Amino acid sequence: MKYFDYAATTPPYPEVIQSMAEIMQKHFGNPSSLHQYGEEADRLVRHAKEVTAQILGVKPSEIIWTSGATESNNFALKGAAMRGGRTQGHIITTRIEHPSVYECCRQLEQIGFDVSYIDPASDGIVRVEDIQNALRPDTIIVSIMHVNNETGAIQPIQQLADWLKKVQSRTLIHVDGVQGFGKLPVNIAQWNIDLYSLSAHKLRGPKGTGLLYVKQGTELFPLLAGGGQENGYRSGTENVAGIVGMTKALRLASTEQSALSERLLVWSEQLKIAIQSIEGLVLTNPSVSARHIVHFSYPGMKSEVILHSLEQQGCIVSTQSACSSRKAEPSRVLLAMGVEREHAASGIRISLGDQHTKQDIEHLIIALHQTVTQLRPLERR
Ligand code: PLP
Repeated sequence: MKYFDYAATTPPYPEVIQSMAEIMQKHFGNPSSLHQYGEEADRLVRHAKEVTAQILGVKPSEIIWTSGATESNNFALKGAAMRGGRTQGHIITTRIEHPSVYECCRQLEQIGFDVSYIDPASDGIVRVEDIQNALRPDTIIVSIMHVNNETGAIQPIQQLADWLKKVQSRTLIHVDGVQGFGKLPVNIAQWNIDLYSLSAHKLRGPKGTGLLYVKQGTELFPLLAGGGQENGYRSGTENVAGIVGMTKALRLASTEQSALSERLLVWSEQLKIAIQSIEGLVLTNPSVSARHIVHFSYPGMKSEVILHSLEQQGCIVSTQSACSSRKAEPSRVLLAMGVEREHAASGIRISLGDQHTKQDIEHLIIALHQTVTQLRPLERR
């Protein structure tokens, strides 16, 4: 089987597995304990933070370990909205966010916050002017993703942050960086953003570990009350092995980013050309998109049917984002782009990673041809 669902999750690096197993066996202490077991675990967590801070070009005190990007996104949004005990105010986000941002905003609406959901243009990219038009004096936070997890569309982070910090610097800007890091250059300091979420398992690290960058001086309401770990921002005994594993994965992913990007460009172009040459398939990718995601639809055919046919040909792909793929509804992201329902209901996401080879891509192209040949008699016209 060939796995083409790297945007859902990735196989951990062998180095990550090895170091995590070692830590669980040898350094199982609680970082809050005062004895030598605790001190060793605390040293590992602090060292991981220093290394991660260096990779991200930020201060160690600005990194908060979390259980993954779902928690990071919830913490960024709820933490910012509810600081100082507030229950009112305005939030701007987009209609194409991951459910961990989108559904979190829906919850905040139920509590009393106002949320503006900005639609992208037909190319999947949100226009800064549309966010500018939605800004209000009481806007607490603007939350936007770097790269969309279904279409790969790259959002204009720098342009947005430059404008926002000039016109209303008190409004925070949060970036969900999950699908961008390791695929595109990331520069948190240059972007001048306040909050940035990452998840380890999208970068060949462990599941259940992530981080939130919180710019120094940013006040957030802590979601988890307890023993006051993570400078009081996030209580709970630290996932020492996960944190060390994530740091290793971040280091490898950032070192390999530019070489991987070159390979991904060649492969994604090859795939896009092949898709465009197959009668019946429609390429959905916007022109400005990250190279690890290729999205197409096969109107008249259901996504699941295409997915299972490709699986029979030995290729694992995805229908939409992993978190939404069990829902019967067509993708919210595609509908927001103005894609017709029938096209949206027949979408397939191919996502690539560093372990792929030229032969894997050739195998996938043959499988795409075979799938369409096999399914053509079933097409609903
Ligand atoms: N944000 C984006 C863009 C994602 O693709 C994902 C995972 O699919 C998440 C957030 C959630 O990450 P996690 O699985 O670490 O909770």
